[in-house]
Amino acid sequence: MLRVACPGSFDPPTNGHLDIVTRVAAIADEVVVVVSVNPAKRGLLAVEERVELLTGITAHLPNVRVEQFQGLLVDFCRAQGVRAVVKGLRAAGDFDYELRMAQMNQHLTGVETMFLATDPRYAFLSSSLVKEVATYGGDVDGLVPPSVLARLTTRLAEARERPAG
Ligand code: ADP
Repeated sequence: MLRVACPGSFDPPTNGHLDIVTRVAAIADEVVVVVSVNPAKRGLLAVEERVELLTGITAHLPNVRVEQFQGLLVDFCRAQGVRAVVKGLRAAGDFDYELRMAQMNQHLTGVETMFLATDPRYAFLSSSLVKEVATYGGDVDGLVPPSVLARLTTRLAEARERPAG
């Protein structure tokens, strides 16, 4: 029985995330998408919204569930019987950080990390870039699922109506 975790901030979930989750769901028995909660960082989308959107876009994958978690990922893995963390690798820039993180997690609890090569269609895609492009009116259609696009459009319109400060 192979249960794995796909962790991240998912602010917002993108087609790059969905691609990794879909591909790993075809290999593992169970996939837990873990939305990390960082109280120090206010995201564009509330954590509950990210969970809701991820649940919706993975609804057709019966062996995928979505959870939120605050704390050390390895503690979540231990509590939930997760044997491996799965990450997507986009480019060399991801590698250095991900390697150290994987080694730290292995050191802490023996949880393994597996990497999937990003589909080249999504190699340039990140949540932060999607947010930036969408904030300035750029077209992110095709980079995020339709439900995420709709939510982003609503949130950004609200933000424009109620500027910070
Ligand atoms: P974080 O903010 O913690 O880096 P993200 O939500 O941006 O989290 O991404 C979570 C994980 O999803 C990344 O660590 C990476 O493994 C994977 N990922 C993100 N974007 C892509 C992409 N375009 N293609 C493949 N994997 C991706």
